Amino acid sequence: MLSYQHIYHAGNLADIHKHLALSIILEAMTMKSKPLSYMETHAGRGIYNLRSTESLKTGEANIGILSLSLASKIGKDTGYYKAIEKVRKSLGKDFYPGSPLLARLLLRDYDSLNLMELHPEEYRVLHKTMWSFANVHVHKRDGYEGVLAISPPIARRGLILIDPSYEVKTEYEKAGKFVSKIHRKWAEAVIMVWYPLLDAGLHENLKKIILERDFPKLYVSEVSFKKIQRDKGLKGSGFIIINMPYGIKERLDKLPDIFSN
Ligand code: SAM
Repeated sequence: MLSYQHIYHAGNLADIHKHLALSIILEAMTMKSKPLSYMETHAGRGIYNLRSTESLKTGEANIGILSLSLASKIGKDTGYYKAIEKVRKSLGKDFYPGSPLLARLLLRDYDSLNLMELHPEEYRVLHKTMWSFANVHVHKRDGYEGVLAISPPIARRGLILIDPSYEVKTEYEKAGKFVSKIHRKWAEAVIMVWYPLLDAGLHENLKKIILERDFPKLYVSEVSFKKIQRDKGLKGSGFIIINMPYGIKERLDKLPDIFSN
């Protein structure tokens, strides 16, 4: 099933939680000059117009990245903030980078990016967004199968972002089991898996599958949204990191402060 389109949710509170953490990880990993391999199982289209009909329909960006009080808590010195500013300067103030473009802006020309996206229209826009970057490879392919097939890469320092749309209940189990599969093939990879906190509590299954394994350097972050910020039952946002890079725990621990009052 491929009915989910991230344009309705881009720049919302969950995106801020996920994208800010992603940028913190990438900032830490690029402190060393060694090349990195970056992969995404579920890339989306890479760029979003927050004034599009779809985005305005939900209004999620308005209480997310377009909220001045919230944006001021993110910090102008973060890679995340600087990347958004770069996108706004080049494309206009209404534009927001998805995870693929954000990652590219934080990585170097000699790092490699492999991005999987199955939805034909999302793939088309992703391809158009990323084609000018020589080190980015965009695949119209199932993300789980695609990332497994090309792992481990030659440059074994790297990060995999797993960010499914969770359209079906079984996706939680699938994403959880995928973490074990990919870790077996590419043990050094930093793995970040995002999940929504919903009233139904379906994410507990994903967490259980991952937490009962003895993964190295594991970190869990969850933030709750205030009632007024919740959309369609989205109570909050969570992610798990495996092989968390050294030195970022303190910054990640502070993420919930951004979403409190
Ligand atoms: N990571 C993106 C970001 O943060 O900007 C958002 C990704 S969105 C939550 C999930 C995307 O996965 C959608 O664009 C959807 O079309 C795509 N998708 C769904 N199933 C897929 C699959 N099996 N393989 C690859 N992409 C898939």
